[in-house]
Amino acid sequence: MLGQYNASAWPNGGLATLPLMTLELSLTYQTGAEIDGFLVTRGTPLPAIRAIAYELEHIQSGARLLHLHSDDNENALAITFPTPPPDDTGLPHILEHAVLGGSARFPVKEPFFEMIKSSMATFINAMTSQSYTIYPISTTVKNDFYNLAEVYADAVFHPLLTEATFRREGQHRTLEDNDDLSSPLKVSGIVFNEMKGAYSSPESRIWSLANRGLFPDTPLGRDSGGDPKVIPDLTFEQFVQFHQDRYHPSQSLIFVYGDIPTEDHLKFWKPILDGFEKPDTPTTVEAAPRQKRWDTPREAEDSYPIEPGEDTKERSFLMLSWLVGDSMDTDVSTDWAVLAQILLGHEGAPLRRALVESRLGADVFGGGADEHEYEQTFRIGLKGSEADRADEFQRLVLDTLGKLADTPFEPRHVESAIQQLAYQTLEVKSLFPLHLAFDVARTWPFGEDPLLFLTEGEHLEASRARWQANPNLFNDLIREGLLNNPHRLRAVLYPDTEAQARADAAFAQRMATERATLSPEDLARLARLAKELEASQDETNSPEALATLPCLSVSDLPDAPRRIPSAVETVAGFTVLRNDVFSNGVNYLDATIDLAGLPEALIAAAPRWCEAFQKMGAAGQSFEQIAERRAACTGGLWATVIAVRHATDDSRSCEAIRMGLKTLDREVDGALGLLSDLVLGVEASDRGRFEELHVQAVAGLRTRLVNDGLGTARGAAGCGLSPEIRRGQIWMSPAVLRQFEAEAKDMDAAAQIAAECVGSLREAFQNRARWTLSFTGSDIAFASLRRTLESWAEKFSDEVVTPDSFILTPQYVYEGLAGPMNVAYCARVLPGLPAGDTRLPLIKLGLYLAGFDYYLPEIRLKGNAYGAGASYDEASATCQMHSYRDPHIAPTLAVFDGLLGWAQSRDWSQGDIDRAIIGSAKDAEKPIRPADATMTALIRHVRGDSNDRRDRDYNLKRAATPESVQSALVQYLVAAGHGSTAVASSREKLDAANALLAAPLAISDILPGGGG
Ligand SMILES: [Zn+2]
Repeated sequence: MLGQYNASAWPNGGLATLPLMTLELSLTYQTGAEIDGFLVTRGTPLPAIRAIAYELEHIQSGARLLHLHSDDNENALAITFPTPPPDDTGLPHILEHAVLGGSARFPVKEPFFEMIKSSMATFINAMTSQSYTIYPISTTVKNDFYNLAEVYADAVFHPLLTEATFRREGQHRTLEDNDDLSSPLKVSGIVFNEMKGAYSSPESRIWSLANRGLFPDTPLGRDSGGDPKVIPDLTFEQFVQFHQDRYHPSQSLIFVYGDIPTEDHLKFWKPILDGFEKPDTPTTVEAAPRQKRWDTPREAEDSYPIEPGEDTKERSFLMLSWLVGDSMDTDVSTDWAVLAQILLGHEGAPLRRALVESRLGADVFGGGADEHEYEQTFRIGLKGSEADRADEFQRLVLDTLGKLADTPFEPRHVESAIQQLAYQTLEVKSLFPLHLAFDVARTWPFGEDPLLFLTEGEHLEASRARWQANPNLFNDLIREGLLNNPHRLRAVLYPDTEAQARADAAFAQRMATERATLSPEDLARLARLAKELEASQDETNSPEALATLPCLSVSDLPDAPRRIPSAVETVAGFTVLRNDVFSNGVNYLDATIDLAGLPEALIAAAPRWCEAFQKMGAAGQSFEQIAERRAACTGGLWATVIAVRHATDDSRSCEAIRMGLKTLDREVDGALGLLSDLVLGVEASDRGRFEELHVQAVAGLRTRLVNDGLGTARGAAGCGLSPEIRRGQIWMSPAVLRQFEAEAKDMDAAAQIAAECVGSLREAFQNRARWTLSFTGSDIAFASLRRTLESWAEKFSDEVVTPDSFILTPQYVYEGLAGPMNVAYCARVLPGLPAGDTRLPLIKLGLYLAGFDYYLPEIRLKGNAYGAGASYDEASATCQMHSYRDPHIAPTLAVFDGLLGWAQSRDWSQGDIDRAIIGSAKDAEKPIRPADATMTALIRHVRGDSNDRRDRDYNLKRAATPESVQSALVQYLVAAGHGSTAVASSREKLDAANALLAAPLAISDILPGGGG
């Protein structure tokens, strides 16, 4: 599940990427017309997104359908049902998982995964939002679109919803050891484990605390995903009833988008909906009940678990939230979005600045205008703080807001905030149709006009006009909406070393009490059901069952993978890729700065340069001045570090800074002027600012290493097998956190070293040979870029950069990483193949099948982990296996061990291989959108990854046979051996795993002072 998908309002003119101008922007169908049993209720031209919106109602069933007809061939379908949660059992979420587990026409085991496996979908998933559930797909192939639509329509309206599916996806009781009836009772289930993982994170806990507190009387205060404490209470009967109540076609909202004619959609849906009658008495549950407003502010408090022995100092979260209005009112939601941007939108913004400067916490957290479905909120939080600073935090926020309310904002600050938001309406993002579907879902499930947020550009203009008519608009908003608004909640979340043990003990007690009520017969039955559930995962779909699923054939695939139209030019001595991709008035510049040949200490310090580039001053200007310029003339200017393996040279790793810039034509000179100031003059000499950023970096690393448990485990496992992963570890890992914490003891010395490193890197980067640039945008902007590069050329050197080469001596690890998490993340990394090995495309197909046919049943369906898989990563030239939010460790490692045996015992048909060929071809067929294209073309160029090489691999894949895939995979796995293994989990779980493992994992702590 995706939780709140904050699909920010979308775009003017995105569709302009499409083969254009064939769509007549005139209405074909008149309101009131009847076509194929559907009544046209409205037709609306939407020039901003180059589409016509047809709203229709299926007369007999009451189902509603909205078609945004455009000439984009990335067609999309999203079926939505309003599903406000009645409680915290996760009912909507478990149902979302279960409806995709088999349906009347497709009684296949796991049709959802079978379809992913064999479809060209650019997107296919299902998500539970706070109060609706959405089933979206998109694809550029028409046959594929209707194949997916058939399976999804049958899934939502005719799911099998067996008790076994409920037990596996939701929750069931089982014994610790089902062969031993005296062993303890426990709960398992995929959603149960998914949500246990989610509840491990203090960030999700503080959000949940704030939402429960702010909306105590409505479904918005409940957890649609499910609280692991409450999920075990859900019954099968409630689950089936919820589907009956909520998934009737009369409540369904069917969104379609793209170039397929409206009639084709109606012909498709007619027979599906004709079987249903609109109920006489429609369901009376109100879809969007509003929270009753308070007359005094409230407070809420909770703790979150950290490992025994860990330091609790400055680990608390503080948050103020206000309910400020109705987000279905576009005036309200737009004005609050602009105000939030003014107050918090960049490093120098006044409210952000006041909080960071106060040093009451390490960093601002979760601030801004936030639509909680149909209610509009405003929030501001701090992480890395102390619970007893809550009063002071609140006072500071209110005092700062008080001052801001009394001082008119400078017009340029308001303009710059509006412009930042305008990028959202202009950019042609990847998965464009999905953004539209989510914009529609901002209103439609709540009974409001589905087109409301498809014209976001107009709402921004209206906000600007209101501000021009009343220059105090945003001051008044602060006063009325925040200072004088009693519907305010203060939430405090503090760390507690005992919390996990207490929660575990309470749960164990609850299980023991429940167990005591069960007779020996009950227990035997329970064990039998659990065993049957597990055994059923070994059954595979018969060829006859699979044949019921509609599928493309290999001959439907294009002859070659899609290419980015890109030309390499030399501009003032710089290598520049120019990409011919429509970008709707936004210009994109990406660049890499090669780190080859620099001293190791400087390469290790590259993230410091990125931090200074993004957050410090330059060219004699303070970081506030730079931040203001950034907000005024760019839609983003950032830098990060990358390390990727060269595509054809095994001894070469491309280590670089990667930076990106977005800007409009009218701002391009200002944006490139800022870029020049940063490249030529970035400095880290501001001692106070250095300390602020250092504190933020420590707080950020602490959360990231634990929240991204899989990344932490993978890094540790791959470190000795890939120089790229090792480099990643030098840039970010538990060791870096320890180093930062040590540095904090002598901040002066640390600041001095950082400033020197940033200075040396700045000098080193003034060398043309280190730069490769990639540009997508207008001729005007390109001319400005040319002038900029010419001015740089006068200052830059042309020193030859010799690529570093390496010889890898593999080092293997087998280790556990202990941290505060109540699930496990298991990672295994195997050394890869030599560059250009023609078996690689075949091995990738084999791993693709292993993901669906081996890891999925063994680790997710039997083990009830949320995720698992295997893949080949070309960037690090390694093969990687993983499990995600996993209740098990030892059994999962045994599954990893079993991959070779599985591969040897395969008896694939050509049909099995063809499904994998089609499913994995979707990566090569993604629609080309500008931001993605600019970056992808650049990375391919620096890696030496040519179109010819990709064509060759594509053809090798298309020619794959069962024998060629099996022999390539088996040969590879025999040669690769056992690889390296790392598991991130709690110390308790790791200790328990070691008791079961033949060789114990060597355990160390992720966080300094953790574990004990
Ligand atoms: Zn889920």
